[in-house]
Amino acid sequence: MYCYGRNEPVTEGAGVPLTHEVLAPRSAVEDDDEGLELVRAAYPALWATALNRWLRPGPPNQIGMLYASSYLVQTGGTCWAIDPILPSSLIPDWPAVDAQPLRQLSFVLLTHAHSDHFDGGLLAMLAASGVALIVPDHMLELVRDRVRPARRQVLVARSGIPLTVAGVDILPFDGFHKARDDAGTLSGIESTGYYIVAGGRNLVFPGDARHYDPLTLPDLPGVPDYLFAHLWLGRGAALAPEPPLLDAYGRFVVRWRAKHIYLAHLHQVSRPLTDRWTERHVEMVRQHLKQIDVPVKVEGLGPGQQVKW
Ligand SMILES: [Zn+2]
Repeated sequence: MYCYGRNEPVTEGAGVPLTHEVLAPRSAVEDDDEGLELVRAAYPALWATALNRWLRPGPPNQIGMLYASSYLVQTGGTCWAIDPILPSSLIPDWPAVDAQPLRQLSFVLLTHAHSDHFDGGLLAMLAASGVALIVPDHMLELVRDRVRPARRQVLVARSGIPLTVAGVDILPFDGFHKARDDAGTLSGIESTGYYIVAGGRNLVFPGDARHYDPLTLPDLPGVPDYLFAHLWLGRGAALAPEPPLLDAYGRFVVRWRAKHIYLAHLHQVSRPLTDRWTERHVEMVRQHLKQIDVPVKVEGLGPGQQVKW
């Protein structure tokens, strides 16, 4: 059931060799109490192994998932993260893990204020250790209140204004977390996505999305090599045979024209099964794209999995 340290070489698209290193339980093993208990018990080992392997200056460049939507990245010798959290901040009785190694991060990017993306306690520890925080303008007040970083630790991310931090080029853009109701009104939470040039690759992280409006993609200065798209196919729809946003989501991920597409935000065990996305849904997206004759390959990227190049 568990596949620690198994390497699965994958060759895709333009022939760029990639390796997925699988450290996590695969498929839907957490879908009952017993399975969830196994995932919980295995988590400290997953965390320790992931940090031990990924948090070191390269090569290779690598992007790995510490939890459903917590990215740990190393590019060109710079270690950075997006929305790092400790799952114990989210899930009662989740085992504690050692966050101290994260003090080696150069910087952290934040996307939005939801609790599965924003861990004020962890960020306070990191900021006190000298890690820079790149904070969207819509989160500044929250970060000031909950993290209380020194002013020099904070860089403000504003949509369309590029930043370069530790050799990493970062272009923030408006995210897709607001949904449109039947009357056409947008409601929801402000969010920021990032287009990043690092390690010789163009990376795009749209963040959580709750609408897939074709008119709202940002103009990017380059073609993304890797897209990391958070999987979400409709509220409470994870057990539906055909989730309502399957087609809209499939078209959304293709529209970025990325050379490699990874679907993340998988196995968020703090959610009920009706809202928990897994490899089963990755397969649905894959089959749907095949059905509508879109010849792209999509891969799931769950906790403990990484892409390296
Ligand atoms: Zn969210």
